[in-house]
Amino acid sequence: SDSYVIALSLPLEDAFGIMEPRMQKEDATYAVNIDADLLVMGGRNRLSQVFINLVANALDACASHDIPCHVDVRSQRVENRIEVLVSDNGPGISQEQEGRIFEAFFSTKPRGKGLGLGLSVSAKIISEFGGELLYRRGQNGGSVFVVAMPALTQKE
Ligand code: ADP
Ligand code: MG
Repeated sequence: SDSYVIALSLPLEDAFGIMEPRMQKEDATYAVNIDADLLVMGGRNRLSQVFINLVANALDACASHDIPCHVDVRSQRVENRIEVLVSDNGPGISQEQEGRIFEAFFSTKPRGKGLGLGLSVSAKIISEFGGELLYRRGQNGGSVFVVAMPALTQKE
């Protein structure tokens, strides 16, 4: 499948642009703090799709608990990979469900609201680009999804 050198800021901008109307409607806020020159090998549309899925899940999780949502995106370099951390202030994921969230068709949402494909498709996309999609429990009890991808050298 098609991949090329891309700045991660682009699919993130796409994703938040697409999610903006829903976020406004739900009084959700977000902050993106990543290096503008963070480069990876990937495809813009498929990476946007991953971030759209993660943001939609964060909004769904907050909505199910009537919490005003805040989505935080930051990046860190860990050895030879770049980690993009997408965190929310929602209810998080229980230990028993944690092991199943990447399974195709696993969803805890009401019938018709979730097909349970977002995370399995997203994980597949990231693995196609040589990376990994991981879940980490957030310090505030919310969810943190980690998009870990091989790092390329940064633009000067
Ligand atoms: P869907 O959104 O259609 O349910 P996903 O594959 O996107 O399918 O997510 C699978 C399940 O993982 C969700 O139904 C939910 O239980 C859990 N989940 C995913 N993201 C979050 C999140 N940010 N906070 C809480 N639970 C989440
Ligand atoms: Mg989903």
